[in-house]
Amino acid sequence: MDKTIKSETVIPFETLVKYINTYIHNQENIELIRKAYGFAVEKHHHQKRKSGEPYVNHVINVAITLAKLQVSPDVIISGLLHDVVEDCDVSTNDLEKMFNVEIATIVEAVTKLGNLPKFSLEEYQAENHRKIFIAMSKDIRVILVKLADRLHNMLTLQYMNPDKQKKIAQETLDVYAPIAHRLGLGQIKATLEDKCLYYLDNKKFFELVELVDLKKKERDSLVEEMIKEIDSLLIENNIIVSISGRSKHLYSIYKKMVYKHKKFDEIYDLQAIRVICKDDMTCYGVLGLIHNKYRPIPGRFKDYIAMKKPNMYQSLHTTIIGVGGVIFEIQIRTKEMDDVAESGFAAHWRYKEGSEKISQKEIEEQLHWFRDFVSLSDDSNDVQAQEYMHNLQRDIFEANVYALTPKGKVVNLPNDSCVIDFAYRIHSKVAESMTGALVNGNFVPFNTKIKTGDVIEIQTQKNAPGPSEGWLDIVKTSNARQKIKHYLKMKRESELLEFTDKGRSLLIKRIKERGLDEKHLNNKEALERCIKFYKTSSFEEVLVKIVEKKADVDEIIDSLYNIKPVFSIPKLLNKKSTNFHATDHGIIVDGIDSIAIELANCCSPIPGDEIIGYVASGKAIKVHRIDCPNLKSLNINALIPVYWDPIALKGKHYFVTIDINAYDRMYLLSDIITALSQINVQTMNVNAKNDDITANIALEVRVSDGEQLQRAIANIKKIDGINDVVRKNN
Ligand code: MN
Repeated sequence: MDKTIKSETVIPFETLVKYINTYIHNQENIELIRKAYGFAVEKHHHQKRKSGEPYVNHVINVAITLAKLQVSPDVIISGLLHDVVEDCDVSTNDLEKMFNVEIATIVEAVTKLGNLPKFSLEEYQAENHRKIFIAMSKDIRVILVKLADRLHNMLTLQYMNPDKQKKIAQETLDVYAPIAHRLGLGQIKATLEDKCLYYLDNKKFFELVELVDLKKKERDSLVEEMIKEIDSLLIENNIIVSISGRSKHLYSIYKKMVYKHKKFDEIYDLQAIRVICKDDMTCYGVLGLIHNKYRPIPGRFKDYIAMKKPNMYQSLHTTIIGVGGVIFEIQIRTKEMDDVAESGFAAHWRYKEGSEKISQKEIEEQLHWFRDFVSLSDDSNDVQAQEYMHNLQRDIFEANVYALTPKGKVVNLPNDSCVIDFAYRIHSKVAESMTGALVNGNFVPFNTKIKTGDVIEIQTQKNAPGPSEGWLDIVKTSNARQKIKHYLKMKRESELLEFTDKGRSLLIKRIKERGLDEKHLNNKEALERCIKFYKTSSFEEVLVKIVEKKADVDEIIDSLYNIKPVFSIPKLLNKKSTNFHATDHGIIVDGIDSIAIELANCCSPIPGDEIIGYVASGKAIKVHRIDCPNLKSLNINALIPVYWDPIALKGKHYFVTIDINAYDRMYLLSDIITALSQINVQTMNVNAKNDDITANIALEVRVSDGEQLQRAIANIKKIDGINDVVRKNN
């Protein structure tokens, strides 16, 4: 198991340099590392680890792990500085000035990764955590620093409380160990896994330690004898190799027992015999000699030299029946392959002094390769698995963003998704009652696009306005789109139901007032006539028109009961009178002095509008605006000229509705109402609808005439954020 250097005092620079000197000799680079070391010591001087050690020993240990992987000086320095931004009030700008932009960028990314919300165990999704980790790292060097950081944290986990130990161990097992495996960092992976087993299944851990120990004693002499036999076999054939026995790490035994249901005694490769050869051909030669002498077990031979594993691992594996009829696993590989098996990816990308500085392009290329490689399964010959992995890769790097709830639950969404998509992914009830969204602690508009790593909090309220048509233009996921459409449909249906009920009761009330037979409403022919008159597809739609004030109740009744106007206009006009009649509404009708006059509520005429009367069969003449669309469907013979009486208008009031479209903001409505009251226009009724960006307000106001209405509209237009103001037309 990997050792960590523990010291009550600060680990001296000389200890670190010992590891660095194995591959870095350039004095300039070493001085830069010394500068980073000094800076870390200075910045962390007041901090201690839970173990009581100086905190800076943690970052020095991280740097030592990185040095063992022989990474570039920039990565070592990033390791030394990886906690200064988070803990010591140092900005990435400072790091860029003191060191370079590369180092500042790596440290910034490591800090960001460290700041993801801590998951709670019940919210935990290992796969998504792995994805977000890789997607956010973006740079292989960030991952190396994070792995070295986690390795040291795992090696010093005994100082944490048991709850935290379990959480951190689980995350390490699910996220960090598989990434170490993908990178071929065999040594780090094995250490992480065994430590995780220790914390997650302590009993089993010690059982295994004991079993392996017993078995080892039992087998040690056999292994030794076997090594001797193979050695002399190869010497006979003039092949020089080095042979050793290797113990399997505990967690891999545990996995075989738990997931492959093997008994401990059925695991043959507890101690593999490893033969290191000078080249590929020698490996095959050695294999031939061994198979010639010992009987191989069918199905156990694997040629990872010809077909390397996705994590670059190469070796020949075979299992044979050796001395005393005992089964042995034998691994045959070159020295280079052995290095790759220990430190995999890093072995391929080792820092070589004197070579050109690695360019951004090279890093990108490496990263591209890394992406391919991270997403490949070990069973890459399985077409289905490849397909799955291909999709997974697309998920991770191309099509998806990963956001988090404040509790640390990862939510993955397609690119360009907005906070509404996020809310729907949590629950449609959350989206439907959402009143606000915070991204990384800041309030944002609903159309804000999500970026990977964003922490999103959705605020909800019982009486939230709910989804609107506007949402459909913003959302990206089909799930959200479907749910919004469904919601709007249900809302429309319930509104329709409410409106038809309301319309029906208004209609019945008027039918009774006019002394007509209510039963007539069930007359099919009558309904058909009415539907045809209003050009609708159902009678319910006619009822809705009543509530929406798009049709006049009396006119509907005339149509239903097939009532012709009681007066004929010529007859009316013959009824000459010297006194023009002006009603309460200030309207005079040519030649008529005693008839009730009502303003049609479909177009609400006000003084100044051009108007015309309709002689309905009820008790009144209805006055419409000349441009009222309802006039088209009325009997032209029942129309009669009417006029505003300038004298009778004094002190009268008219109600009219104004439609306002505006960018929604605080105090918008109160600004409008204030502007109106300044010119003595009273607001009677407000009906506001808003999506997240704009508000549509229908304002019923009381005016004395068209002139005052125009002034009101002009004043509203002057208010901040107003898009459009129009008088409601029908
Ligand atoms: Mn750290």
